[in-house]
Amino acid sequence: MEKLLEIDQLTKVFSFGSILSKIKLTAVDNISFDIKPAEIFALAGESGCGKSTTARMIMGFESPTSGQIIHSGTEVAKNEKVWFTQGIQAIFQDPFGTFNPLRTVDRYFFETVKNYKLAKNKTDAIKLIDAKLKAVGLSYEEFAGKYPSEFSGGQLQRISVARSLLTDPKLLIADEPVSMVDASLRMSIVNLFKELKENFGVSVLYITHDLATAYYVSDRIAIMFRGDIVEMGPVEQVLMEPKHPYTQLLRESIPEADPEKRWNYKIDLSELEYEEYMRKGCKFAGRCPQVMEICKAEMPQDTQVGKAFVKCHLYSESQKSQNEVI
Ligand code: SF4
Repeated sequence: MEKLLEIDQLTKVFSFGSILSKIKLTAVDNISFDIKPAEIFALAGESGCGKSTTARMIMGFESPTSGQIIHSGTEVAKNEKVWFTQGIQAIFQDPFGTFNPLRTVDRYFFETVKNYKLAKNKTDAIKLIDAKLKAVGLSYEEFAGKYPSEFSGGQLQRISVARSLLTDPKLLIADEPVSMVDASLRMSIVNLFKELKENFGVSVLYITHDLATAYYVSDRIAIMFRGDIVEMGPVEQVLMEPKHPYTQLLRESIPEADPEKRWNYKIDLSELEYEEYMRKGCKFAGRCPQVMEICKAEMPQDTQVGKAFVKCHLYSESQKSQNEVI
């Protein structure tokens, strides 16, 4: 099947400190994945795993250290704002930060229509804006002339989605789009992505720390840990039968009943994160309940398990044959 977006061996190295004692941290380490038309692909992991750096590179806010970003078969040049020029639109985390509190929200819509020459006159512009608002469950009448403060966070996030639809994008990049929205409204926003996919064939790169909504909305998922994709495949397989010990740990950390405490797995990122990023072998070796000697020395390679890929020595060919001999 055709690939709408292809990420090929993408790497981002950040340097810190002075000239004399420079420290390099590989925030995104040689990751590859693709997104197909009309597909919702989740990039998930805890804070500091590299998913937002990946999103920033795809959107052109950060240049990759190496690797390629290919959009509809064409390589995207470094720092090119694909989300602005090539049918990709971005939905950001904070719906209140997206709109200036002193401007009415409809002005943003008219500006986009004008910039992209999407309508011949004001009547056509209103028709277009109304159609996009209706696609997210709102209408022009209930939004015209209002300021951001007159809407709830959930409504404003719907409004940002409607605005992104004005240019008929093929792909939405949604970076933690529901993390600042009231818990009771989160499902309605992720449902919206499903509807856009089903009704208009829009693909979504859904970047999240929330496995519950990722499970609900995505077709495929990649789990990131310290810059690596450690497991990737159909969401049903990865989240219902996780193979990587880190995915298993994440999955266990989702309590069933209390949506407010969905992410109760807490670590001291400031120290541990750094140590894990710098690890020579598997970056999860310091916390993995199934760690082996080889894990501390060698970085595991991707191994296919069912329809998913797992980066873990437990599934590597050499380990499997050793286990058979024993
Ligand atoms: Fe655990 Fe080793 Fe697999 Fe890493 S490679 S997740 S340490 S078993």
